[in-house]
Amino acid sequence: MLTAVTPDSENPLFKLSSQEQSPPRMTIFCDLDGPIVDVSDRYYTTYQQGLADTQAAYEAQGINLNLQILSKQQFWQMKQNRVPDTEIAKSSGLSGAEIHVFLGCVSRIVNQPDLLHLDRIQPGVQWAIALLHSRGARLILVTLRPQNQATQLLQNYGLARLFTCICGTQIPDAAYHNYTALKTELLTEVVEEFDSSLGSAWMIGDTEADILAGQALGIPTIAVTCGIRSHYQLQKYQPNFILSDLIIAVHHLLGYAQKVRLD
Ligand SMILES: [Mg+2]
Repeated sequence: MLTAVTPDSENPLFKLSSQEQSPPRMTIFCDLDGPIVDVSDRYYTTYQQGLADTQAAYEAQGINLNLQILSKQQFWQMKQNRVPDTEIAKSSGLSGAEIHVFLGCVSRIVNQPDLLHLDRIQPGVQWAIALLHSRGARLILVTLRPQNQATQLLQNYGLARLFTCICGTQIPDAAYHNYTALKTELLTEVVEEFDSSLGSAWMIGDTEADILAGQALGIPTIAVTCGIRSHYQLQKYQPNFILSDLIIAVHHLLGYAQKVRLD
């Protein structure tokens, strides 16, 4: 699903840097969770609530579970290393049917509106996106989050206006499950839409789904390590570059564009 957004030429950074010479036009396809938003607090709270709900369900049957709750750091390291939720559940003291109860709780909880406020914008993202926009790059958001949720979040941070298009899904927990096929489908849809005017195109994301979707369409990829995958996991998929965050990625892209122009 695509939403066109009116570009904002009134952004102050646009005016500040618009006098500089523009590099060739670029199209940046950017993922939301990871490069732009830090979801680690929401995912960890979901994990904690999932365990609490599982415990309550068993207590109602007179069964006491012996839980070992992971720290935020332990939990996030496991997510960054693609440890499946079933293994995370086992490490937390669950077994057998308890794991299925826990997984059901997690899917139900993760997108509840009262947890969405736990999402935080990554440091420096507003500056990085405004800079890209000011240099004439076209920004297209490609996220597995529900379309309206992504649009609302970007609006909250004053960023929606800087995106030409916001492409999301209708599936509430697609982002949590990080379906590669769905990401590729979304990227295909939006690439077809802008095919004639892509210029130099890049895909920025924090997981294998972003890298594989970009590669499927022949678009070079930048993986960032500030999200839900470690450098070690990302390098298995051979993105063109692995960088720490969106600010470094933007500097890299603008430097790259400058170099191409001078060659
Ligand atoms: Mg992501």
